[in-house]
Amino acid sequence: MRLMQFKSTRDATNLVSASQAILQGLAADGGLFVPQEFPQLKPDWDQLSQFSYQEMAYYVLSAFLTDYSEADLRDCINQAYDDKFDTDLIAPLVKVGDNYHLELFHGATIAFKDMALSILPYLMKKAAEMNDNHNEIIILTATSGDTGKAAMAGFADVPGTKIIVFYPNGGVSTIQEKQMLTQKGDNTFVLAVEGNFDDAQTEVKRLFNDDQLKDQLAMADRQFSSANSMNIGRLLPQVVYYFYAYAQLVAKGVVDGSQAVDFTVPTGNFGNILAGYYAKRIGLPVGKLVCASNDNTVLYDFFKAWSYDKNRDFKLTISPSMDILISSNFERMLYHAIGEDTELLKELMARLDQDGVYQLPAYAKENFVDFIGQYADEQETMAEIAQVKAEANYVMDPHTAVASKCYRKAQAAEGLSNPSVIVSTASPYKFPAAVLESLGQDTLGLDDDVLLNRLQAETGVPFPPAIQELKDAPMRHRQVIAIDQMEGYVKELAVK
Ligand SMILES: *Cc1c(COP(=O)(O)O)cnc(C)c1O
Repeated sequence: MRLMQFKSTRDATNLVSASQAILQGLAADGGLFVPQEFPQLKPDWDQLSQFSYQEMAYYVLSAFLTDYSEADLRDCINQAYDDKFDTDLIAPLVKVGDNYHLELFHGATIAFKDMALSILPYLMKKAAEMNDNHNEIIILTATSGDTGKAAMAGFADVPGTKIIVFYPNGGVSTIQEKQMLTQKGDNTFVLAVEGNFDDAQTEVKRLFNDDQLKDQLAMADRQFSSANSMNIGRLLPQVVYYFYAYAQLVAKGVVDGSQAVDFTVPTGNFGNILAGYYAKRIGLPVGKLVCASNDNTVLYDFFKAWSYDKNRDFKLTISPSMDILISSNFERMLYHAIGEDTELLKELMARLDQDGVYQLPAYAKENFVDFIGQYADEQETMAEIAQVKAEANYVMDPHTAVASKCYRKAQAAEGLSNPSVIVSTASPYKFPAAVLESLGQDTLGLDDDVLLNRLQAETGVPFPPAIQELKDAPMRHRQVIAIDQMEGYVKELAVK
């Protein structure tokens, strides 16, 4: 098989193997790693429709991670997708009204980040072995709520690693915060920062690229890596479930292996939906990818006006994992759309840095034909939760509800007619207050235990293990620091 290389979006001569790309996380030139070319799969759906999730993971990942041996890759897959998930299907596809919901919340932290963060630590450990790298790996991560817990759960007590997580103070749900503050593991550290997600993510990126800090780490036989979706090792495992969803539709007789399927994806950092785009590029019959935003409409506005403009107020919503103005993975999509023109990409990214805005060159618009931008505001999102509960007796979390509403709007505007998959990214148990309010209940002053019990009465679904665990786990001390204190903490934890 051909060896697959990965190149940086900001320097096409910066070519590395898959394992090196995963180890580095972010390219040294500040860019993101992308496949040098897209492998072309010729899916045999008779066969694929019978695949387990693990077999599908091997089918897709082996096309990209060509420097991993078959035994190593299967080993990573089997350790990742095991009984940490509460169903053997790992990512079940459920019929809800006229749509299919791809439930990506059956892992350890009941949000879709588990799909990739269950396997990333194993891929990284193997990558270190393969490259004879004996450095201690320091994972530095900013989280809008779900990545932090999922990454800590994945890396907890993994030898040779340490993980430091920053989350926006007041910017995550109480359950999300509790999940992070109850994380076990001597190698896990979590801090709230006074700022929003973008502030935290920008500072993390800056620390990553701080040459002095890098040198200090290297002298101590340490190096940074990233568990954010900037790491290609986060992105590629997400391609798997697009194939798996399609395979389930074939198995159900909904499509025959040639008909296109539309996917609607609740979007923040653009990692999940980009994986859908990659799935299409390697041979999955994907129709439209509906990019669903909440009140933070940067991406919706981009698809309308072809200008990316982050100069606006950051809004806190009931779908906090989508409260993002700078979608990191959009850099990858932009790079593909402008014909992989490194110089232009650097120029546009510099503009975003300096002025907070850039314009897409006209010729690149057609390369976004697969995408439809939509958004749902807070009221629409809450009404959607109530409507789907009333019509289909199915309770969605707010992120999934944004997608569900956006699909309705996109369908009305564009007359979409392919089978439709709503990518469902979190369990409603992660956001009990917002969900119950949407269903017309008054939640003021009620604590999480009461809310969770009430929500169980609404859903009829037993508590997932992740919620059960929260009830009696000891909580860590909650620490809040300023953005400009992040560097000090990182030095304290990583260099000393
Ligand atoms: C992270 C997250 C999203 C956004 O996914 P991106 O890959 O960042 O676009 C949506 N919903 C939930 C529940 C999430 O945790």
